[in-house]
Amino acid sequence: MRNILGLKIEDLEDYFLSIEEKKFKALQVFEWLYIHKENNIDNWTNIKKDIRDKLKSDFRTNFIKVKRKETGDLVSKYLFELEDGNYIESVLMEHDYGLSVCVSSQVGCPMGCKFCESGRLKKVRNLETYEMVEQIILIEEDIKKKISSVVIMGIGEPFDNYDNVIDFIKIINHPKGLAIGARHITVSTCGIVPKIDEFSNLDLQVNLAISLHAPNDEIRNKIMPINKVYNISQVIEAIKRYISKTNRRVTIEYVMLNMVNDYIDNALELAKLLKGLNVYVNLIPYNETNNIEYKKSKRINEFKDALLKNGINATVRREFGSSISAACGQLRSKEV
Ligand code: SAH
Repeated sequence: MRNILGLKIEDLEDYFLSIEEKKFKALQVFEWLYIHKENNIDNWTNIKKDIRDKLKSDFRTNFIKVKRKETGDLVSKYLFELEDGNYIESVLMEHDYGLSVCVSSQVGCPMGCKFCESGRLKKVRNLETYEMVEQIILIEEDIKKKISSVVIMGIGEPFDNYDNVIDFIKIINHPKGLAIGARHITVSTCGIVPKIDEFSNLDLQVNLAISLHAPNDEIRNKIMPINKVYNISQVIEAIKRYISKTNRRVTIEYVMLNMVNDYIDNALELAKLLKGLNVYVNLIPYNETNNIEYKKSKRINEFKDALLKNGINATVRREFGSSISAACGQLRSKEV
C-alpha cells in the first residue's frame, strides 16, 4: 500500500476522481498532512467518515523514526530509521536568513566518489518520496519551527532517483504542502547528463548545483568514477543547455583537496572552462573523514582569488557541523 505522504496534489486529485469524489478533497488532505501535521486520518473532520475509511484502506501514513539527534553549534544531525530497518541522516542548519535542511535521497550511494564518506556504503535502495518528505516534517515537528530552505545534498545521488526526487520537490513546494519556495530548494548532482537535460525542461524555479570538483578529465577521473560515463565537456555542454533553457544561474561545487585539485593552475584552467557561463563557484573546504587519503587544502583563499581575478564568481562554503560529523560528505547510512 502506498504511503499518502508520497502523493503529489495531482496524484490525490486523480485518486479522488477515480473514486468518484470531488478533486478539491486533495487540497483538504494536503492541509491536514502539511499544515495541521495531522496524520491520523480519523481526525480529518471535514472529510466524511466513509471517505476517511476508504482512504485508510487505500493508504498508509506511517512515519520513519528519529533514532538519534546530535546537536552542535547551529547545526543538528538526525539519524532516521526507515520502516525496513535501513538508516539515513539529515542535517538541520541555522542561518541568519532562516532554517535549512539537507536531505538524503538514497540509502548509500552508487557514485563512489573517492573522497566521500556517504558512498562508502554502496547504494542499497532509492528513498521513496514519502521518506524524503518525512525527513522535513519530522524535523519541523521536533523543533516546532518552519524550515525555509531545503538542499538535496545528503546521502545519495538525487538524479539517480529522479522521479521520486521531483515528486518530493513538488510536494514540499506546493503552497498547501510545506510551501517551501522553489528558489529555496537546491538539488545537487554529480553530473548525470540526461537527467540534467530532463531537469532543464521542468517548469520549476529550483536551483541546480553541479559537483564538478576538477578542471579537467585527468583529475576528475581519479576522484569521481562517474566522469568515465559523462566527462567534463559533456557536463559543461549540459550546463549550457540548462542555462539557455531556464535562464538560471548554476552553482558549481568544487571540493578543495590538498595537492589534488587545489593548485593555482587548476584555478586558471577552471576559470577558462567556465568563462562566460552564468555560474558561480562554491568552494567546499574538505571535511576530513576516516578516509585518510585526502586532506583539506590550505590554498582555498588563493584559489578563490585566482578565480575572481579571472572573472569567475566564487565563494567559500561556510563550514558547518564537522564536530558532529554532519558536514558535506560525512553523512552515513549507518546506525553507528
Ligand atoms: N550526489 C550529489 C549530492 C551530494 S551533495 C552530488 O554529488 O552532488 C554533497 C556535496 O559534498 C557534493 O558536492 C560532494 O562531492 C561533497 N563532498 C563529499 N564528500 C565531502 C567531504 N568529505 N568534504 C566536503 N565535501 C564533500
